Amino acid sequence: MSDDTTPADEPKRKDFIRQWIDRDNESGRFGGEVHTRFPPEPNGYLHIGHAKSICLNFALAEDYSGTCNLRFDDTNPCKEEQEYVDSIQEDLAWLGMTPTKVCYASDYFQQLYDWAIQLIEQGVAYVDESTPDAIAEMRGGGLDEGTNSPYRDRPVEESLDLFARMKAGEFSDGSMVLRAKIDMASANINLRDPIMYRVLHAHHHRQGDAWCVYPMYDWAHGLEDSIEGITHSVCTLEFENHRPLYDWFIDQLTDINHPQQIEFARLNLTYTVMSKRKLLRLVQENLVTGWDDPRMPTISGLRRRGYSPEAIRKFCKTIGVAKFNSTIDIQLLDHCLREDLNKTSPRVMAVLDPLKVTITNFSEGDVDQLEAINNPEDESAGTRMVPFTKEIYIERADFMEDAPKKFFRLSQGREVRLRYAYFVTCDEVLKDDAGEIVELKCSYDPATRGGDAPDGRKVKGTLHWVSASECLDAEVRLYDHLFTKENPDATEEGQDFIANLNPDSLKTITAKVEPYLAASTPGDRVQFERTGYFCVDTDSAADALVFNRTVTLKDKWKKIQSKQGGQQKKKKKQGGQQKKKPRLDYSQFKNKKK
Ligand code: ATP
Ligand code: MG
Repeated sequence: MSDDTTPADEPKRKDFIRQWIDRDNESGRFGGEVHTRFPPEPNGYLHIGHAKSICLNFALAEDYSGTCNLRFDDTNPCKEEQEYVDSIQEDLAWLGMTPTKVCYASDYFQQLYDWAIQLIEQGVAYVDESTPDAIAEMRGGGLDEGTNSPYRDRPVEESLDLFARMKAGEFSDGSMVLRAKIDMASANINLRDPIMYRVLHAHHHRQGDAWCVYPMYDWAHGLEDSIEGITHSVCTLEFENHRPLYDWFIDQLTDINHPQQIEFARLNLTYTVMSKRKLLRLVQENLVTGWDDPRMPTISGLRRRGYSPEAIRKFCKTIGVAKFNSTIDIQLLDHCLREDLNKTSPRVMAVLDPLKVTITNFSEGDVDQLEAINNPEDESAGTRMVPFTKEIYIERADFMEDAPKKFFRLSQGREVRLRYAYFVTCDEVLKDDAGEIVELKCSYDPATRGGDAPDGRKVKGTLHWVSASECLDAEVRLYDHLFTKENPDATEEGQDFIANLNPDSLKTITAKVEPYLAASTPGDRVQFERTGYFCVDTDSAADALVFNRTVTLKDKWKKIQSKQGGQQKKKKKQGGQQKKKPRLDYSQFKNKKK
């Protein structure tokens, strides 16, 4: 998954995680080895936030010649499904990552159970028969100290016996739990005798009905890392307070591998939600068409929308890692996307809002095949032929009656270039009874074939077009943000993020596209010249093409950069003493919004 996409202006300083690893390597800790993992719970599809964690963990392994496992953290049978396991593996492969090993926390159930018995024997774990509510109350919260459970000091033998019978299925769900005996007065609530095991008569997607006690995430997670020999266990900031607990568990078990947990800020993006619970709700309530709806921030949604793995990797690299939570402007993701698509996407012509144009002096029935460049950024992409005929379509917005001087497109009496074809002049405008323009009559100059006039005369505008008789109809899905607000959770009282769904996030139109696109297949990415980047949808068929608009061509990020550059130039011209400002980096871009 090597990327040579490092921007020239990327800071050379290593991030705090790499600095940490360097220190560990210098001191000889972990024998200089670096083993990381990506540990998803298979209870939903991966999203762009997961991509940040994936790119980070796999890059660390690559940079330090180490390993990176994919580990399914499948300790909760109620929410996990094989469908999610499969989708996670598919998404990871698509992102270009190959795990050293694919592991499952559920494969460690016996080991975790044996270790729990060891803790009971050591007198640091006990079976508690209090109700879940009573346990929550005893653990307290805020500045209040917790109170000891009446079962806390029961004899070791009693706990061992009850724990064995919990496993044997003698007790009902919720009737008792195994708790660690740590410190009910701890300021860190995670250390107030946390629950290690619960009784749960549930079918596990891999273990079937083998188990009716299931380990809690906090008991299992650090030990899973230990079992796999993970050296640097990278996770998001909300687990910082859990680190003392993971360390405590590992310390009780002496002689097992002790990973170093390092926390970083999770990715938040404007105009979308990243919580799996919220994404699941959008799917379950049919507010989107599924996990891979092109408006979703899921990897499968982004893929279907037309995002490339390279763009996502570049984005993750650009944002880097930080210790403080922040929200990244979604424009930065789109900027990375445009940069990649600009290099890789073949250009084609498609008219989204067609207006008929008749070339009055072109022979009826003639088809003039014109050569068009597939990608000006990539010579190896070659050329294709585009048919020109008597009737063509242009974009309705490319014509204006009584146009102002600065309107460089078509207007009555004005001449423009049709891309790769000819100069045409509009002679007549036809309207229907309602006064709407229905057709333009134009004449073309045969001497301008290919787009240049031999007499050297210039035109200001170049329009895209398609042949009316040769073009194909295509369904085009125009997407906008899924939410109307930068922060979808900012709602009136009594409402939730659903209230901020954008009712106009999908507009479907029928466009006219070049015949060249007849052979396209789902997943193909193209640029519709002057309009945007598009991707052939999975719903598309040879006789019923469907395109998703991936992103428009307008790059807000570039605009902000050039605006800043422009202001500096202006100040310089005015003769003012000017300190040289660095180019706007992503963090400034991000703060612009605040
Ligand atoms: P859940 O609420 O189900 O635990 P989760 O978002 O934590 O959701 P996991 O499947 O546990 O989902 O995540 C796997 C890994 O991805 C974890 O290491 C987690 O820290 C990381 N991760 C999840 N969301 C983000 C995010 N927005 N930014 C960066 N990393 C993330
Ligand atoms: Mg999680």
